[in-house]
Amino acid sequence: MDTKIVKIDENAIDHEAIKAAGDVIKKGGLVAFPTETVYGLGGNALDPGASRKIYEAKGRPSDNPLIVHIYRMEDLYEVAADVSNDAIKLADKFWPGPLTMIFNKKAIVPGETTGGLDTVAVRMPDNSIASEFIKASGGFVAAPSANLSGRPSPTSAAHVIEDMDGRIDMIIDGGSSVIGLESTIVDMTGDVPMILRPGYISGEMVKDVLFKVDYDPAVFGDVTEGLRPKAPGMKYRHYAPKGELMIIKGDRDLVVRYIQERITGGLEQGKRVGIIATDETAGYYRDATLLKSVGAREDEESIARHLYAVLRECDDSDIDLIFSEDFDTPRIGQAIMNRLIKAAGHNIVNV
Ligand code: AMP
Ligand code: MG
Repeated sequence: MDTKIVKIDENAIDHEAIKAAGDVIKKGGLVAFPTETVYGLGGNALDPGASRKIYEAKGRPSDNPLIVHIYRMEDLYEVAADVSNDAIKLADKFWPGPLTMIFNKKAIVPGETTGGLDTVAVRMPDNSIASEFIKASGGFVAAPSANLSGRPSPTSAAHVIEDMDGRIDMIIDGGSSVIGLESTIVDMTGDVPMILRPGYISGEMVKDVLFKVDYDPAVFGDVTEGLRPKAPGMKYRHYAPKGELMIIKGDRDLVVRYIQERITGGLEQGKRVGIIATDETAGYYRDATLLKSVGAREDEESIARHLYAVLRECDDSDIDLIFSEDFDTPRIGQAIMNRLIKAAGHNIVNV
């Protein structure tokens, strides 16, 4: 399939191009588009055939449901039943934005879109290209992240092209994602909102609005046998680079010293060694094949924004062994570490 790549400027939206993208969706095709979190792989959420195509293009297991993207509040009631006052409060506060809420689904949403579940995940993204595109597509765009299943989520059109060129109809290039991590997922079907996947919006921020919040154990990386994450996607290996990734935790000096020893040891064995560091420490490492900083330790937004691109760069440079510092920062740290720990397959060393 020939994939059309269209550049759109968020500050000067080309409405012809948006209309063409919307037409692709209306005809049952697939379009990757930018959002503030990561790039999404969109299809008509109300068309079971389009959802099946999304799973096929990503190589995604079909029990892993898609998020339905809307562009205006009233459309929530078309796809979601039993929308509580709490949900409306969260929508008022955080939509458009990086928050996905789970509701009981209405019959109009096909089981193909929800991975067979009776619930539906809904989000209103905060990116004007995304909103215009959803509007031009008929209002309901099912979209998981636009990566091949298992790879790090794409935060630029170049990443999408790497994974999806030839597999989908169109890619909208709208520049780099501002946030760089997938949305927070919160289940609104119970009395207490439950965080199923951490993200830019923390559990504390949800609690500030509703005075209550619970966490699915999977959020903390609990992989106890038989404990099934409520967000089906959380059970799959994810975000993973091709090389072996290890996270090193502890006192900064000890971490730097340990990683330096591992660089030397890896190189002696003929391995290509990559390091994921911060601005504060990057200058201390010697001889790594690839040395990347995700930004200043205090700037957690920078760490979130650069993490996936750095993991992909490790793949581009055929890195065999990757050593990463940990990034347990105050607010988004839980989300950053949730992704990094998954990418590392729980391979963590405490020094
Ligand atoms: P992605 O956009 O690629 O991060 O994938 C969507 C995520 O939303 C996956 O982790 C899904 O498991 C999760 N998700 C979507 N719908 C539901 C739902 N109805 N209940 C729980 N989790 C969901
Ligand atoms: Mg994904």
